[in-house]
Amino acid sequence: MRAYRTVRQSDLPEPEELNWRLAATCRIVSPALFFHPTNERGPKRQKRIHEAKKICSQCPVQRPCRDYALAVREPFGIWGGMSEEDRDRILGRGRGRADNTTERSA
Ligand code: SF4
Repeated sequence: MRAYRTVRQSDLPEPEELNWRLAATCRIVSPALFFHPTNERGPKRQKRIHEAKKICSQCPVQRPCRDYALAVREPFGIWGGMSEEDRDRILGRGRGRADNTTERSA
């Protein structure tokens, strides 16, 4: 079971702070690469995560994307080269893992 913490309005970025999205490399890639389908597990999941992280590693706005995802405690998807599990570790969130495989870093 996932444990979520409420995000305070004061933690959210102002709209002008989100302009980095205009330069996001993932704007030209299918969102399916960055957000897992229901019950995706195992090697297929790890491959998708790895491919998404490779794109993030070449993205000119990886840092603001990463900062945003951590600030709003984004629960889903690949953001700033981080998977959901990466953010869980950084934020100290508990989460039931979809599988026991270890993901590869980009
Ligand atoms: S770092 Fe990754 S998720 Fe963030 S904007 Fe760039 S490509 Fe998209």
